[in-house]
Order: sequence, then structure tokens, then C-alpha cells
Amino acid sequence: MTTPARAPLARSAAKLAKRVAEGEPPLGRARRVGRMLRELTATHPDAHCELDFTTPLELAVATILSAQSTDKGVNQVTPALFARYPSALAYAEADRAELEQMIHSTGFFRNKASSLIGLGAAVVERHGGVLPHTLDELVKLPGIGRKTANVILGNAFDVPGITVDTHFGRLVRRWGWTEEEDPVKVEHAVGALIPKREWTMASHRIIFHGRRVCHARKPACGACTLAPDCPSYGTGPVEPEKAAALVKGPSRPFLLARAGIPEDAAPAPAPGDTP
Ligand code: SF4
Repeated sequence: MTTPARAPLARSAAKLAKRVAEGEPPLGRARRVGRMLRELTATHPDAHCELDFTTPLELAVATILSAQSTDKGVNQVTPALFARYPSALAYAEADRAELEQMIHSTGFFRNKASSLIGLGAAVVERHGGVLPHTLDELVKLPGIGRKTANVILGNAFDVPGITVDTHFGRLVRRWGWTEEEDPVKVEHAVGALIPKREWTMASHRIIFHGRRVCHARKPACGACTLAPDCPSYGTGPVEPEKAAALVKGPSRPFLLARAGIPEDAAPAPAPGDTP
């Protein structure tokens, strides 16, 4: 799809923002959410969990390490870590100094080491060494909050889960899907708008859109294929060239092509640039 002309888009975004502020009728919201989900599916066909893992325990460990770190940074330390600690018991019996050194580069290594040792011990004591697969049981384990539990459920156990991280919360509020700020309330509000079977993949696609297009400070509105259904269109630059310069990630050429913008219309942002 290509983004339609800017002036009509700005007018329809203003009307939509007014409708959302006044209380969008449920049927209209459901249709708009459905169109946005379909567009997200087409725009981010490569969306997936970016943490490397082969078992639920490995994903739990990687997710704990990903707090205040990048998935890429975590993936650099986990191959050696998973080889050294192949089971919950191995974490429970880990030498703290050695474990801290192995995960040092992910930041907050002392807290994370405590979580991993505590997680291993709790999984051994309460679950016979096997990571449980219900939200209630997972959130009772050291280091595992609701967000981490939903990541594990959705990606290691195929149980639908909505992952509310900072990107997710920002986007669904910008889109007028919910006004809630509390992550649990956001999870419930958005869960009511999306078919349950789509929760996990929709979470990935929304997070990918937040990383690549709809940035916190300067969203790339003029290069965004969700613009026709977004009440926040115009929060960032709407001029195609300026917006294109903000689009990030390996699928940038595809994203620009989908938005109808030639790739050479704007330079790619420098790696690590945070618009
Ligand atoms: S980039 Fe702009 S138009 Fe696209 S979703 Fe974000 S705020 Fe809306």
C-alpha cells in the first residue's frame, strides 16, 4: 500500500482523533483495529521473537537478561551461558561470581544473577526442574514478571500472550486503542480488541512497528502505512523524505516501498540512531 495524500490524511486524522476522544463506537473501533492488524501483518511479515533459544528455560533466562539490554546483546552471551548451565539445577548451583562474569555485558548483572540462581532453585523445588506453562505459576518465579511470562507463554509454549513493553504501550495509546497507562490494564484492554489466537504475533508486529517506524520522539508518520487509521498522524514529520529518513531496521527498503517512497529519497539513519 502507499500512503495517501497528506492534506486529506491530516483532516481525517483530526476527525478520527476527535471521534476517539469523544468515545469511538465499539463497532467502528473493532473495524479500525482489524484494518490496522491486517496492515501490520503485511508491513512486518518478519516479526518474531528476537531472542535466541531452544527451550522454555532458555527463553526465560534470555528474557530476564533482556531487561535494560538489547536482544542482540543478550544473544551474544547466551550461547556460552546455555552451554555452561543446561538445566534449572545448574543455575541453582551456579557459582555466583562466574555467572555474574558471564552475563556482565547485559547490565544489572548482580540482580540478574540473583534472578537466575533463584529461578533455577524455584523451578527445581516447585516444579521438578521443568519450567511451568501457566501465567499464574510463571509470575511466582524469581525474575519473572507478567511481561516476561507472556513472552515465554507465547513463544515457547504456543499459549497466546500479549507483551506490553514500552513500544507496545506507546503505540496502542497513540492509536486510541486504549488510554490505560498501567501495563496490566493495557494488556486486558488490547486483549479484548484482538482475537486471542493473534495475541503473540500481534505483539511482535506492534513492537516491530514501534522500533522501526513509530518511534517515541519522532515517529515517521509520512512513511507509515497505518496513517489512514491513526488518530496521531502528524505527531512526527509527514513529509515523505523527512519521514523516510527516520525509518530504521533491516527491512527499511521494503517499508519504504510499501509506503510508496523511493529508497533513495532519504539517507538511512546511522546505526544506533534513535529518532
Ligand atoms: S508513525 Fe505516525 S501515523 Fe504511523 S502509527 Fe505512529 S503516530 Fe500513527
